[in-house]
Order: sequence, then structure tokens, then C-alpha cells
Amino acid sequence: RKGVAVITGASSGLGLATAKALAETGKWHVIMACRDFLKASRAAKAAGMDKDSYTIVHLDLASLDSVRQFVKNVRQLEMPIDVVVCNAAVYQPTAKEPSYTADGFEMSVGVNHLGHFLLARELLEDLKSSDYPSKRLIIVGSITGNTNTLAGNVPPKANLGDLRGLAGGLNGVGSSVMIDGGEFDGAKAYKDSKVCNMLTMQEFHRRYHEETGVTFASLYPGCIATTGLFREHIPLFRLLFPPFQKYITKGYVSEDEAGKRLAQVVSEPSLTKSGVYWSWNKNSASFENQLSEEASDAEKAKKLWEISEKLVGLA
Ligand code: NDP
Repeated sequence: RKGVAVITGASSGLGLATAKALAETGKWHVIMACRDFLKASRAAKAAGMDKDSYTIVHLDLASLDSVRQFVKNVRQLEMPIDVVVCNAAVYQPTAKEPSYTADGFEMSVGVNHLGHFLLARELLEDLKSSDYPSKRLIIVGSITGNTNTLAGNVPPKANLGDLRGLAGGLNGVGSSVMIDGGEFDGAKAYKDSKVCNMLTMQEFHRRYHEETGVTFASLYPGCIATTGLFREHIPLFRLLFPPFQKYITKGYVSEDEAGKRLAQVVSEPSLTKSGVYWSWNKNSASFENQLSEEASDAEKAKKLWEISEKLVGLA
């Protein structure tokens, strides 16, 4: 049978390119988990995806109710779930004020981390019951949350501190909207959320890899400077960022190439090692990359896990 992969945020950028790359092999059916059904449907058609190669299911990660409803809906499809890719993200580098999810969490961490945390925890049960030979849960990371790299050292740097803002509910009412308790900064909130993604992947690995055999992985696909992620950035930035990445940092990858990379992490028989953060070198060969001190801090990962469980109603 075909493998079945759930991909969040498959309506544009990396998620769409990955869905397309998997569908084209003829070996995968993609469940496109998207907040905008029409956009997803148009995107899949425009990408030339065969209509039998995907199913679109509504998911708004900015609402925990929507996440729970998605899990119900996807179970009703009566398809196995073999791979889950937590890919969707928001990035609000120019926001002056925070915005909030339906549950009152600051948006970047609410969507990128907390929505995915609940989704991944719920779908782990489905992965466990799948009979697919190589089951995987992939959480897309980023270099920008990784302070052991050049890009990760561009201010404002990621820093979760002692997680006091998160523990307080990240709602700007009784607590700060930033995980570390500081003032709102949209660019930093995104980077913090990516550190959460990488910590969560490792904590999943420690808690569940042996018991379930599921492979847990994260990756940095390269700088895909053309995606919608930068849609809220100032126009001059959007104009100069792609050539800057192409010719100066040489970290640029096309959406197609990045999609192929993530598709490898989904399906390559050689990439089954769990607990790994994958990156690619200049010749597009994958390698196991090192995470920054904070993004590999096991104590912090445990604390993050426990606080997140409370916030999403799992504990
Ligand atoms: P895009 O903005 O193109 O894609 C983001 C996707 O997330 C879109 O499909 C968007 O939906 C979806 N999304 C946003 N909010 C929600 C929500 N509340 N509920 C459900 N879906 C939502 O960005 P990219 O493709 O670049 O980003 C994909 C991943 O790659 C992210 O995890 C990002 O951190 C990571 N990444 C990107 C890099 C880059 O250079 N671009 C580099 C490193 C990592 P909609 O289409 O409706 O807006």
C-alpha cells in the first residue's frame, strides 16, 4: 500500500513542495492539513498533484479546538497515519504588538509550538497503530533558533530563559507574551518557537523512540528565501533577501529542492535514525547536524514538555 503522510501547512512553501515531491513518487498519499481549504486546493492543482494523491483536511493550529477536531476528522478517513510532518509556521518580524491564538497564547509560539505539540501528542497514538515499516514524526526546525551558527547569532537571539513567560500562560495578562518573560519581539518569538520545535523532537525521542519504534527527527532544509514566511517583512527586505542568500551567504535553496530534502526525511530508507537534526551540505548531501547548547538542553526539553502539556490540556 501507499504510505500516508500528514503535512501541516501544505498550502504553500516548503509544505507544498514536500507534498508534491511525495505525491510524485506514486508511493505516498498526503493529508494536507491546512487552515485555508480553498488555498490548499488551488495550490495542489497548480502544483500539478494528481487528485488521488492527496486529501485536504482543515486544521487551524491557532486553535486547540481545531487541532482536536482535525484529529477526529482525520481518524474518520479510516486511513492509516504513517508519517506526521509538523511544518506550518508563522513569522511576524515587524509586528509591533503581539497577536493571540484562540486560546490566548502569543501567536508564533502558539501556532509553531503549542498547536503542533498537541497535534503530535495526539497523532502519536495513530502512528503507534500503523503497520508501516518506517513510521516517523518530523518537526521542522531552523538554523535561526540555533545560536551555534552565524545565522542564529543575528539579534534578537533565541533564548527561552527559565520559561517563566510560558509557565505563566504566554498571554500578556498574568504573564509575559515571551517564553523568557521579556518584552514582545516578533522575530525572537519565532526563533524561540523553533528552539521549542527542536527540543520537543528530542524529548519525543527520549520518551517514545524505544517503546514505539517511531523515528523522531528535525531538520533545517536551507534558506528558502522565496516562501510566504517572509510575507510580513518590509518590502525592501523581501526584495534583497533572496539574492543575498543566493550570492552572499550561499545558503539559498529553491522551494523544490527544500521539498525534496524534507521528502527524504519522510521516506528515505537511510534516514531512519531517531533524535537527529538533519542538514544538507553544498552538494545537497544530508548529514547529522549539531544543535546549539540551548536547543539540545535535556533539562529544558523536559521542563518545556511538562509546561506545554499543561497549557494544551494534556496534564
Ligand atoms: P510559508 O509561509 O510558505 O508556509 C507556512 C505554512 O504554514 C502555510 O501553509 C500557512 O498557511 C501555514 N500556517 C500558518 N499559520 C497556520 C495556522 N494557524 N494553522 C495552520 N497552518 C498555518 O513558509 P515556509 O514554507 O518557509 O515555512 C515552512 C516551515 O519551514 C516552517 O516551519 C519554517 O519555520 C521552516 N523554515 C523555513 C525557512 C525558510 O527559509 N523559508 C528556513 C528554515 C525553516 P497559509 O497558506 O494558509 O498561510
